[in-house]
Amino acid sequence: MKAVVIGAGLAGLAALHALTSSGAEAVCFEKAGVPGGRVITARREGFIFDLGAQFFFHSYNTCFQLAKEFGLYDDLTTWECRSGLLNKGRFLPIVPSTNPRDIATNLGETLRFVAKAGIPFQAMRQFLGLLPTLVKRHKDLDLIDFERALDLDNESLADFVLRRGGQAILDYYIHSLAAGLTLAKADDLSAMYGLGLLCSMIKGVLTFRHGLGCISERLGDRYAGCIHYHTPVQRIVIEQGKVKGVEVNGGLVEADAVIPAVTATSLLEMAPGLPESLKRPLQQVTYSACCHVIFALPAPLFPKDWYALLLHGRTGACVSAFCDNSMKSPYYSPQGCAQIGCWTYDRHARELNDRPDAEVRRVLVKEIQRYMPHMPDTPLFTEIYRWREAVCIAPPGMLGGIAHLKRNNYRDVKGLYLAGEYLHMPSVESAAKSGIDAARAALR
Ligand SMILES: Cc1cc2nc3c(=O)[nH]c(=O)nc-3n(C[C@H](O)[C@H](O)[C@H](O)COP(=O)(O)OP(=O)(O)OC[C@H]3O[C@@H](n4cnc5c(N)ncnc54)[C@H](O)[C@@H]3O)c2cc1C
Repeated sequence: MKAVVIGAGLAGLAALHALTSSGAEAVCFEKAGVPGGRVITARREGFIFDLGAQFFFHSYNTCFQLAKEFGLYDDLTTWECRSGLLNKGRFLPIVPSTNPRDIATNLGETLRFVAKAGIPFQAMRQFLGLLPTLVKRHKDLDLIDFERALDLDNESLADFVLRRGGQAILDYYIHSLAAGLTLAKADDLSAMYGLGLLCSMIKGVLTFRHGLGCISERLGDRYAGCIHYHTPVQRIVIEQGKVKGVEVNGGLVEADAVIPAVTATSLLEMAPGLPESLKRPLQQVTYSACCHVIFALPAPLFPKDWYALLLHGRTGACVSAFCDNSMKSPYYSPQGCAQIGCWTYDRHARELNDRPDAEVRRVLVKEIQRYMPHMPDTPLFTEIYRWREAVCIAPPGMLGGIAHLKRNNYRDVKGLYLAGEYLHMPSVESAAKSGIDAARAALR
């Protein structure tokens, strides 16, 4: 069998690995010059920057399996996500965790947060309205096997929170979590996806000591011989319900199996011949945007051991959170230095994505100084990365449509095997799992 994989993001790399390990002849076309897609790490002057995905959750079994196979498992590390709000110049942190030891250790801090963070009592009370669903449904809210939670797919996270809790908890807590995790507003994603992420997050997060992108780099190195970089696929050629191959540089590369491991929007553009049964659910897939700005700093900005400063919905800020990524591992910043990542989101991100670097830098320095006046006007240097399609945000109804597609229409075009993060609750894990599943289906 000859297979073509389109895209060397985690979905494409995982597909390539599964195909090649089974002895199939496979080639991958990637339009960028490096592997990883949205799992990519940059290194500069002793700093490590995760430009796209930031962390794994503890349920990322496919990613952990890949980490094992590629000698990275021992490099996984976790850190305390001490995050908080700023109230009247005072930093008030909380460690979101379901680990009984963490809860006991941080009890005093949690109580201080509840009493002093400036969150109205009403919001705390409303939070209790959400708890029964989280407790009762946390097992159903599995990022990969999500079908048991499909009843939560038909309304937005915002509508769900308003119905069960209220406006205050939405503005003060859920807004910043949704925006921090998806770079979109709670109105834009389904309750199922929002709650799924929330349940995963409170169990803790992980990265690799030397950057999350290490996994893409290892896979990219192993399969360097099969990946053609700077080679965009123009079209997937489908004739009479069967894949013929792909068009690259104006020529046809014939294949028995094609695995498009790209975003749903790219797939729709490159495969105009898709049947309606595939097109319709793919048209529901949407993405947030992010102008990701990271400042390298000579000294920490946050109090000791802080990871994130969350900005709740009523601040009107263009960022959902500022994060000090030096907390991830000692290798992320040179000793004594820090790095602050700014998560711009929603319309703010789309606007900033069209502005020149100098203006983006100025806007973000000012934004940080609103909350932390000691932010220097001139950081050591700045990394700006513009994501036009950042996180797949699973709007209401999308995952229901995808579940239907996977059950009934996955094989509607012979030789075409979809992969990409949109095939489960969107995440790096979903991308990797979808790539392996697509390869296995092709091999069958
Ligand atoms: C800022 C940011 C933060 C995130 N944080 C997290 C997080 O903390 N945890 C998490 O789980 N997820 C996170 N995500 C989402 C996660 O990165 C993605 O869900 C996942 O990486 C998607 O992988 P993929 O392989 O499906 O797609 P991609 O990574 O987008 O890979 C697709 C590849 O296809 C290539 N391509 C596109 N068109 C063509 C073409 N015509 N021809 C050839 N190649 C093509 C692209 O260049 C790309 O390399 C984040 C994303 C961003 C941007």
